[in-house]
Amino acid sequence: MDTSLREQLIQSIRTIEGYPKPGIQFRDITTLLNQPKAFRRAIDELVHPYAGIGIEQVAGIEARGFILGGAVAHQLSAGFVPIRKKGKLPHETVRIAYSLEYGIDEMEMHRDAVKPKQKVILVDDLIATGGTAEGAVKLLQQMGADVVAACFVIDLPDLGGRRKIESLGVPVRTLVEFEGH
Ligand code: AMP
Repeated sequence: MDTSLREQLIQSIRTIEGYPKPGIQFRDITTLLNQPKAFRRAIDELVHPYAGIGIEQVAGIEARGFILGGAVAHQLSAGFVPIRKKGKLPHETVRIAYSLEYGIDEMEMHRDAVKPKQKVILVDDLIATGGTAEGAVKLLQQMGADVVAACFVIDLPDLGGRRKIESLGVPVRTLVEFEGH
């Protein structure tokens, strides 16, 4: 990716100090989504390695992964699989607990959303500790999906999430990095 694109994406992301709690620098992508060129270029860049290789489904993590993943799925002519917080999906689900900074939560996917051996990519806005994406990858793998990659606009490399996902055999693609939490 060329440096001018990386620069454009970094500029388009707003940082909010101390949200949702002290010590966190919240990387807000609503400003990226709000800028037509930045949004378009971020999606193009997420899609590009996976065009033409037979991706059948794009899984997105609630909620920002829905916006990015929906656009990526459209561009790949793939289906979309929502991975949601527990209790939100109406049909039969599979559920997994995942670790948050403090404590655990659970996420779900419809049991019939992916078929064994289907080629799937996972999309979210940001990877920090990797706990959220790890839960999502495990759910997809439990259902027999071939998780080809996990893709994020933002990496917080200091928190080590990339290694957690790579240890599940899934390559990680990120577009920009920010230091710290
Ligand atoms: P983690 O499970 O630690 O990798 O956290 C990733 C999830 O939490 C993603 O869904 C992000 O949207 C959100 N998240 C974590 N840290 C931040 C941050 N500093 N700024 C914005 N979103 C964050």
